[in-house]
Amino acid sequence: MFNKIVIANRGEIALRILRTCKEMGIKTVAVHSTADSDLKHVRLADESVCIGPAPSIDSYLNIPALISAAEVTDAVAIHPGYGFLAENADFAERLEQSGFTFIGPRSETIRLMGDKVSAINAMKKSGVPCVPGSDGPLGDNKDDVLRMAKSIGYPVIIKAAAGGGGRGMRVVHSEANLLNAIELTKGEAQAAFGSNVVYLEKFLENPRHIEIQVLADKHGNAIYLGERDCSMQRRHQKIIEEAPAPGISPEVRNKIGGRCAQACRDIGYVGAGTFEFLYENGEFYFIEMNTRVQVEHPVTEMVTGVDIVKEQIRVAAGEPLAHKQEDIAIRGHAMECRINAEDPKSFMPSPGTITEFHAPGGLGVRVDSHIYRGYRVPPYYDSMIGKLIVHGESREEAIARMLMALSECVIEGIKTNIPLHQELFNDSAFQMGGTNIHYLEKKLGL
Ligand code: ADP
Repeated sequence: MFNKIVIANRGEIALRILRTCKEMGIKTVAVHSTADSDLKHVRLADESVCIGPAPSIDSYLNIPALISAAEVTDAVAIHPGYGFLAENADFAERLEQSGFTFIGPRSETIRLMGDKVSAINAMKKSGVPCVPGSDGPLGDNKDDVLRMAKSIGYPVIIKAAAGGGGRGMRVVHSEANLLNAIELTKGEAQAAFGSNVVYLEKFLENPRHIEIQVLADKHGNAIYLGERDCSMQRRHQKIIEEAPAPGISPEVRNKIGGRCAQACRDIGYVGAGTFEFLYENGEFYFIEMNTRVQVEHPVTEMVTGVDIVKEQIRVAAGEPLAHKQEDIAIRGHAMECRINAEDPKSFMPSPGTITEFHAPGGLGVRVDSHIYRGYRVPPYYDSMIGKLIVHGESREEAIARMLMALSECVIEGIKTNIPLHQELFNDSAFQMGGTNIHYLEKKLGL
């Protein structure tokens, strides 16, 4: 097992990783920007290294600074968390070349899945269901493109192969707008991602977002840990997640999960990963794979009992998966609220000093957060300041428990989206389960 790990992230996920390292007896190195020396995990880590000024481009995205931090502390592996460099194939490759272990898949796998066109092609080969589409990049022949869109059927969505973060996409409702929209999307994609490769997909009108968590090792073993429903979104940002997804039967779960595990074996996947699907009229449509740990991984941990971060570290060190597919059972229901430092109505970020903090507790309540009384939320990074996760025997019990936990949670000095979560957990359609990805924006009148 690794002797010492650099945690190349900040906030709640850095603390989450640190906790598992401590439990495993692995020494930790916290790296941080000058704005982040007060982070909780920096204080709890065995060593800490300041890697640069506040802007992430100079610190958390600074590859040479991260490699030096690993060198000077004699660390052997780097955990990237999510965001920042977690899906950067060049970073993984640099680490591989410098003799450090990147805790994640091989750089070539990150590259394969990072390009949406090559990812879709690989998935199709493995029998993972995809959205009907252009089967590759759009060429220059206008007649071919028009014919293609007609055969897919309007509305269609134009997507940049290198796109991410909900950018580089455009929906087209009729033939008259198609060619112009393609030119616009190509231009934007070139400017934002350095590539103007775009492709077409059928635009699904009222889907849910359902994703499958997988784990795979270097010995050819791959398993799935069931699904999560992350349909409650605003501007493609998830705010509530749950496991299992309402209305998904064990047979359906096992079928789609089995396909994902097989795809992992086919591409030689190593580590934790997520297959994201749109789900409409009982069918799954693959949209992309995330080759890292996700914000919402705790709901899966709560219903399966598997420590996903521990498995990431174990398989990166070459150990076989600790669990077999037949050992994985889904028990009860888990839900997660992302707590953001923002105005619950305008969604404007609300950085500042936390003057009072009381965390909720009790049976089945988990708080993954780095905040404490006196902590100053810096204005430079993502506004998420923690996650409130509950587990119950049933979905109804989980909802009741979340409402109780939200009412107990006190955060003063900054604004948070807790009032919005309270409204949503009291919403009758959400309580029924199975709302689609447009539900929140429609409710907010956006
Ligand atoms: P990104 O990598 O930018 O997150 P995704 O491919 O995951 O892009 O898509 C982001 C979101 O865009 C999806 O969650 C969904 O809301 C919407 N979307 C993407 N493809 C389609 C599609 N074919 N039909 C309808 N909505 C889509």
